[in-house]
Amino acid sequence: MAYRRAVSIAEAFKSSGTVTVRGWVYRKRELKDKIFIVLRDSTGILQLVFARGTEAFNVAQRLNLESSLVATGLIKEEPRAPGGKELHVQSVDWYYEGAPYPINEDAAQADSEYLLDVRHLWLRSRKMQAVLKIRHTVFGAIHEYFRSRGYYEVQGPMFITAAVEGGATLFKVPYFDDVVYLTQSSQFYLEAFIFSLEKVYTIAPSFRAEPSRTRRHLTEFWHAEAEMAWYHLDDLMKVNEELISHIVSKVLEERLDELKLLGRKTEPLEAVKPPFYRVSYDEAVDILKAKGVDIKWGDDLGADEERILTLQFDKPIQLYGFPEKVKAFYHRNDPQRPEVTLSVDVLAPEGYGEIIGGGERIYDEKELVSKIERFGLNPKDYQWYIDLRRYGSVPHSGFGLGVDRVVMWIAGLDHIRDAVPFPRDIRRKYP
Ligand code: ATP
Ligand code: MG
Ligand code: MG
Ligand code: MG
Repeated sequence: MAYRRAVSIAEAFKSSGTVTVRGWVYRKRELKDKIFIVLRDSTGILQLVFARGTEAFNVAQRLNLESSLVATGLIKEEPRAPGGKELHVQSVDWYYEGAPYPINEDAAQADSEYLLDVRHLWLRSRKMQAVLKIRHTVFGAIHEYFRSRGYYEVQGPMFITAAVEGGATLFKVPYFDDVVYLTQSSQFYLEAFIFSLEKVYTIAPSFRAEPSRTRRHLTEFWHAEAEMAWYHLDDLMKVNEELISHIVSKVLEERLDELKLLGRKTEPLEAVKPPFYRVSYDEAVDILKAKGVDIKWGDDLGADEERILTLQFDKPIQLYGFPEKVKAFYHRNDPQRPEVTLSVDVLAPEGYGEIIGGGERIYDEKELVSKIERFGLNPKDYQWYIDLRRYGSVPHSGFGLGVDRVVMWIAGLDHIRDAVPFPRDIRRKYP
């Protein structure tokens, strides 16, 4: 079969003479004496020229956008063609004409609900292709970061019985004669693993029944989480800034073409290097008040407050020391100042806001039980989690990073949906 000896489009650009390429029709233009087809594969685009009067021309005439084909021809320099070369087709070796393609990438369908309805096809767009390649690099960089620093990769269950982030966003699932919930975070399970492996991480989906549509919430998202025995808040902040800097530098190293295609300015990304700004919750409230925001000590920060805050800085912020009542019960209170927790959120710059939430965990059994009760929860629901504190408990810290939010920020996208191939939110579960 001809397509077996085909080269990728990236390779075709480096070749001379006769080459065979394979791919999909990305653009098509018919002139009097020839047809131009811009062919797309996973590596790039290449202009093909079909001269009238040839058999190949007759095939080209029939092809639709996104028809697939394998063609052989001569590679020639052509300054007017994308990338400076084009292929003068001598033969079409194989093709699949298919039906007329329902998307016109140049038309104003971008960002419409329609493109979400046809996501299974829209994945072929150059924009989505660029996002998918950036996602690939981000996931790889996370694995690489943890694995090269002695963390073990572990897997927690997806069906669970207790809430980590609060009951309001739990998805209930029938489970034989019982009900269970979909996990909102693997944190509690990672805490169990540290007594065996000390430093652990996982990359898994988390599910949250987020009732409102915002530009940064999905009901199913990819969560990179880690827990480290013996780590305190300061150690954790070092991990946060190193991990994020590693991800960003990998994307800059491998994905400059994709960032360019998406129109992403790279200067703000080039600045992402340790140390990040460390801003206490107290300072954040003062900064926001000075900016005219109606906020008082003790209030949680929402997306708007986070946006205003990040715009005051040219790098990510580590926002630490949140009041007890705005953070979940498992956060350890500061022994020096019990009204605040040893917690930290990382806010991405340029208005993006929270990408990491983490902190020191309560490691003392009595302290944990009394805080669970103070929060109006029932210690019975957290039995095994409390049990972890009964045997050789140690100080430990951990965090969760929203991978889709990181992709959204790095790729410079307006909405988290654009960072995910098949997004799920309150109104969308198809395709
Ligand atoms: P937010 O304040 O935006 O609702 P959160 O504080 O509830 O986020 P955490 O429980 O701290 O989130 O979860 C850790 C990380 O997971 C967050 O920093 C964020 O990057 C990501 N994340 C949380 N909820 C979602 C969601 N619904 N969709 C996508 N990512 C999310
Ligand atoms: Mg939330
Ligand atoms: Mg938050
Ligand atoms: Mg959080």
